[in-house]
Amino acid sequence: MSSNNVIEESFGCHVLTNDKLKYMLQKDTYIKYMNIVLNGEALSIEVADEIATVMKNWAISLGATHYAHWFQPLTGKTAAKYDSFLELDKEGHFITDLLGTELIKGESDASSFPSGGLRATFEARGYTIWDVTSPVFVKEHALYIPTIFYSYNDEVLDKKTPLLRSEQILGTYALKTLRLLGNTTSTRVISNVGAEQEYFLIDRDLYNKRKDIKFTGRTLLGKMPAKAQEDEDHYFAYLKTKVESYMQDLDIELWKLGIPAKTKHNEVAPSQHELAPLYTEVNIACDNNQLMMEVMKKVAKKHNMVCLLHEKPFDGVAGSGKHNNWSLSTDDGINLFKPGKDPEHNLPFLIFTSALVRGVDKHSDLLRFATVTSGNDLRLGGHEAPPCIISMFLGNELEDVFKKIAGVEGSFDSVSDKKMNIGVKGHQNFMKDTQDRNRTSPFAFTGNKFEFRMLPSSINLYTLNTIIHLIMIESLNYIVDRLQKADDKIKEAYDIVKDIMLEHNKVLFNGDNYSNEWIEEAKERGLLNLKDSSDVFDLMKNDTNEELFVKYGILSRDEFNLQVDVIKNDYVSDVNMEAKVLCEMIEQEILPCVYNYINELSNIKINITRTNKKLKLNEVDDKIVNLTNLSNELYKNNNELYELIADKKMMEDMSYCSKVVREKMLSVRKISDTIEGIIPKDKWAIPTYEDILYGI
Ligand code: ADP
Ligand code: MG
Repeated sequence: MSSNNVIEESFGCHVLTNDKLKYMLQKDTYIKYMNIVLNGEALSIEVADEIATVMKNWAISLGATHYAHWFQPLTGKTAAKYDSFLELDKEGHFITDLLGTELIKGESDASSFPSGGLRATFEARGYTIWDVTSPVFVKEHALYIPTIFYSYNDEVLDKKTPLLRSEQILGTYALKTLRLLGNTTSTRVISNVGAEQEYFLIDRDLYNKRKDIKFTGRTLLGKMPAKAQEDEDHYFAYLKTKVESYMQDLDIELWKLGIPAKTKHNEVAPSQHELAPLYTEVNIACDNNQLMMEVMKKVAKKHNMVCLLHEKPFDGVAGSGKHNNWSLSTDDGINLFKPGKDPEHNLPFLIFTSALVRGVDKHSDLLRFATVTSGNDLRLGGHEAPPCIISMFLGNELEDVFKKIAGVEGSFDSVSDKKMNIGVKGHQNFMKDTQDRNRTSPFAFTGNKFEFRMLPSSINLYTLNTIIHLIMIESLNYIVDRLQKADDKIKEAYDIVKDIMLEHNKVLFNGDNYSNEWIEEAKERGLLNLKDSSDVFDLMKNDTNEELFVKYGILSRDEFNLQVDVIKNDYVSDVNMEAKVLCEMIEQEILPCVYNYINELSNIKINITRTNKKLKLNEVDDKIVNLTNLSNELYKNNNELYELIADKKMMEDMSYCSKVVREKMLSVRKISDTIEGIIPKDKWAIPTYEDILYGI
């Protein structure tokens, strides 16, 4: 009988969790399997065979006919190759089967995925290897096996491998640090991520009439409607029926896949929404986010809508971001970023927080690099997202704790038991957070975790978290070295906190990151402000960054440069596509529309003057002249844009793309948007902002 408990019935029903495997596998196979998962022990072919058979039977019971190695190539999108379970047995009969060897390793043609100069094209082989730490799942008609992806010569060709490596190495350093601070109970340190995902939902029929959104994910033209988001009445507003039913469907689909969808609400801009799952271990959170973005799009299609994940689909209204909430915890339940009632004496908290402060200050360029997409440049630094200056928010009270330890002036307020009086009878007085939120900070402490708020909505989470891990590893290495040499570990730990705070406090900022004063102050403090992504890439390929990846075995020099190059190429090809689409739209849709309307106006003039020669239609005359001038101007600018695209710099020079080409695109757009304001709405060539933003 159905229990009506939708969550319980759907949650995880399409994921093969370890809990389920425990019942499906022989006891000793399960023990061996868990040793592989937790301790990285080698996998024997017998064990792999038994697991594969269990997986196949489970998947077939859910309607699967195929299995797929699912991986995360450098494009940042997911990839999979499908094979059916059909096999021939020894007697030549057709059976369904999944061999252990097929589960563990797959071979695929790597030549279609970015691999830079790492291989000659004839060495096209790529391998996918089962990632035992992320569970397999059934989606539509396939069993998906999460895998890593590398080349014939063992070069990393994906986003997941560096993340897994960095997670393990961070775990080792974190545990060493804890031991030196006297912890004897924890055996594992876990990196956790909870990602909030913003998105737009628009009508599919309107979307189909907008070449720009279809091909580039964003509008390249479009005049702002009179009402956009001035009164911010969309944020947390009630959900429209169509949106509610989408969100409900989406939640259920995500729950089936074991993605713990938790919070949903309307966002600031019209048609903008947010979805946040509960946090999980980092690797799974990253996989889930990739999967979630796919499912969001698929479910939208069923509802005749389109889910836009671009970070700036509409000019003039807030774009979409992704917030990466991050923390470290131990297997015995200690959150290392939880200050507790007495943070001044909570050494793990002080040490791990200092380590992060040090890493963020030293490697702000790497963190900024993790935020690069062609779309994020259109969003960062406006009054909707943090500026391109990396800083951290700790809140005044915690900062005072650190100041006190560092012997810097400033008072130390007790953080103990602050009650919040909400002044309504019958309601309890809740415990107040240790500080208010700071919604403008790029990297904000939020009680027991750090929230990185600069990511664009469309990006994958692997790169950022690899970098967070890496900068932590480097800081913890420094800390472990010092602690190991010291006789009095506790005193040395406080000295470390002090030294880090004295050297790196310039990265701490509690004020309004959106203000002009901060831009000035940050400059005085010597913080980087990398407004344009091309500036980031100039800094990326330096020895310090390369060495950091190499030193800790995350990526080789070549692999690191490949990861950087792919992001740069994506940027350039995005702008390339945008410029081409814009040119075509102007030529094939906008200009013909203007000519038609000018023609219509001329006919009106002829018809009216035919009946009365003395009538003068100043307004029509003015309009014809005005539109004719504007269309000439538009034609001229569009031709100039065509010329810019033809330049070979277009294919390789980021700053040419971001500065020269995008500048010209803006000029073209301005003229087109002016024309849109003159032509009657029903005669305009394409759906307007008003149609799209208020279309649901
Ligand atoms: P908001 O920033 O909108 O207030 P929430 O406070 O609801 O968001 O939390 C945002 C995300 O942070 C959620 O995914 C939540 O599960 C996650 N989160 C909560 N605690 C932790 C933690 N200790 N480590 C990592 N993520 C966490
Ligand atoms: Mg948030």
